[in-house]
Amino acid sequence: MLKTKVLIVDDMKTNQLVLSGILEDLCIDIDIAACGDDALTLLKDNEYAVILMDIEMPGMNGFECVSLIRQIETRQHIPVIFVTATERDTKFIDQGYHLGAVDYLFKPVDANTLVSKVRVFISLYDQRIQLEQNLAEARAMQDKNDQLLNFMAEGILGLDDKNIINFANIAACTLLTSNREQVVGRPIKDFINPKASQKNWEGSDFSNIFKEGQCNHMDDALFWRSDSETFPVEYTQATILDGSNIVGGVVAFQDISERKKDQKRLLNLARYDQVTQLPNRSMYWDFLSKSIATAGRSNSNIAILLLDLDNFKQVNDGLGHDAGDDLLIQLAKRLSQCVREADIVARVGGDEFAIMLLNPRDIKVAATIAQKILSDIALPFHIFSNDVSVRASIGIAIYPDNGDTATQLTKAADTAMYHAKSSGRNTFKYFSRAMHERVQYDMKITQELQKAIVKNQMSVHFQPQLRVNNNNLVGFEALLRWSHPNLGQVKPEDFIPIAETNGLICEIGDWCLKQALSQAKIWNEQLPSHEKVTIAVNVSSLQFNQSDFAQHIINITQDSGLALELLELEITESAIMENPQQTIDDLKLLRAAGIRISMDDFGTGYSSLAQLKQLPIDVLKIDKSFIDEINQNDSGNAIVKSIIDLAHSLHISVVAEGVETQEQFTYLQKNHCDVVQGYYFSKPLNVDNANAYLRSTLL
Ligand code: C2E
Ligand code: CA
Ligand code: CA
Repeated sequence: MLKTKVLIVDDMKTNQLVLSGILEDLCIDIDIAACGDDALTLLKDNEYAVILMDIEMPGMNGFECVSLIRQIETRQHIPVIFVTATERDTKFIDQGYHLGAVDYLFKPVDANTLVSKVRVFISLYDQRIQLEQNLAEARAMQDKNDQLLNFMAEGILGLDDKNIINFANIAACTLLTSNREQVVGRPIKDFINPKASQKNWEGSDFSNIFKEGQCNHMDDALFWRSDSETFPVEYTQATILDGSNIVGGVVAFQDISERKKDQKRLLNLARYDQVTQLPNRSMYWDFLSKSIATAGRSNSNIAILLLDLDNFKQVNDGLGHDAGDDLLIQLAKRLSQCVREADIVARVGGDEFAIMLLNPRDIKVAATIAQKILSDIALPFHIFSNDVSVRASIGIAIYPDNGDTATQLTKAADTAMYHAKSSGRNTFKYFSRAMHERVQYDMKITQELQKAIVKNQMSVHFQPQLRVNNNNLVGFEALLRWSHPNLGQVKPEDFIPIAETNGLICEIGDWCLKQALSQAKIWNEQLPSHEKVTIAVNVSSLQFNQSDFAQHIINITQDSGLALELLELEITESAIMENPQQTIDDLKLLRAAGIRISMDDFGTGYSSLAQLKQLPIDVLKIDKSFIDEINQNDSGNAIVKSIIDLAHSLHISVVAEGVETQEQFTYLQKNHCDVVQGYYFSKPLNVDNANAYLRSTLL
């Protein structure tokens, strides 16, 4: 560290030595000038704590020298002690004081006096230097802080103890879109928009935190911009304490409008279906769970309507995805118009919608709304200059009757919807206990069906078919039977549809066909060569979806060794209508190989008698429901008669199935039905009984 300096100005060598000798112990640097000019030169580059100035000097005297020193701006303040031999004339002294001198010493100089005077000046000088240094440092720090605060993207506001703003950085002013003068001096409450629940500033969070001398962070506040509009803000608020006194505060804040927008966009993506703008599945789920909790507390009901379009795929495939989207958008609007404002419509799947009726007047309201929805959406939609009509199936579940969790209720509505679909579509169904048990039973069957063949639980029964005009046996229809150790006899109506949905029908169908063929072969081998029995085997429409289905059947039949002419395949009317071209091609191949084709359940599907002639069939089985009508009313009789007549005109043979009474048989005889089958003649028989039956009638 540099030592403090003292300047001695004296032309006499001895004086120079005496003065510097006295000051020797003060731990200072002493510069000596022998004349005023030398002194001025030294002063250009050096600061001194004090100057000891001789008055009587050749050339420039002490007073002249000091008056020149006083003209140097940076040296004006240096204290000067005049050291003089001149008598103590007040005139001199006044002249010296006038020049800003501080003191006089008279020769011979008293060592103690000199040392103590110089010491005072040195200490004053040191203090001044220190002060200047501190001031410079403080200024530098202040500059740095100002810069920092100004360059910060965050708005910074300083507050006094009355919550009046006493500092605002550039960002703060920009964010509040006011200039500094409009911010500084105003109370902070002019800029903070207290929550609606905290209208009173005194009770607001901000004010409380301040009063308690706490710090706080808020990420969903609103600040005023130019007194006219609010913007979302995240801020940190800190109180400045002096001991335990609150002396002010600082608020650092940032505008989070962009972040909020992004959040909203993300939230929107995650919670709303982007096509229809309806709540999506996840929001439906949240909402249902919350609504259940509320309904539980208030003892109210919720109705869930699950709607599935019956023919959306056709629109989408036929007219394209844009048309499909357009349809969904229009549909969403119609659905929303069918319910109250408070109810929820959500898109929960591709063509699945959920409608949540909150606290309906009574649960029948759900039916009224379901009916309204079905009739509203049945009106044509105008899509890209096409008129498109859609149909839907709706399942209804009620909280708390059908479940008390979102999962249970949705599952219940889904089950009911499934039942609406399977009972003819374009309708709605309430969930019921029976339905629930049905679903459980179906699930059990699904599990058990996998193992049914390998575990040898399946068998084939045979129901005789008789020629009407001579009562002779024509052949048998093969009917599957499943005997399960726990479930007992499982009805074909119960397991065939399940085998169709999980694809097992192909395996089961093949197995049944092989069993039937080999049994028929045995029987025909037992018969005299002119007698033959046919075997009719049911084929599901699902089996037609296998590639090369016709050839597959032909191969199996050829392998069995039975003449192909003795096999009759029963295909339901709806199977043919569902996939006409491919099915018809297959049927033609089968017929070309000699296999006969029979249309099962005729009259229950959609085909008209007029379409019959285009179909490659040999036999038509009139459904039991028509046979039941015989002799019940005039129209029943007329229908059966006209089916028989029309079939004959097309050279198609007619089988009446489900014949249970003598009267039915008589009517069929009278009207020239070809073949009959029914309990009146025989129930389906197991192999042993079928053998016995064959023997008794033919042998
Ligand atoms: P289906 O092909 O229409 O078969 C006739 C059904 O009516 C049989 O019921 C038969 O037992 C019953 N039936 C016959 N005569 C009478 C009668 O006089 N009165 C009454 N009430 N019923 C009579 P089953 O065996 O329960 O079969 C039901 C359905 O299951 C069949 O209807 C058929 O669609 C399907 N099915 C049965 N076996 C097979 C099979 O091996 N493959 C396929 N794909 N479906 C089969
Ligand atoms: Ca059949
Ligand atoms: Ca039938």
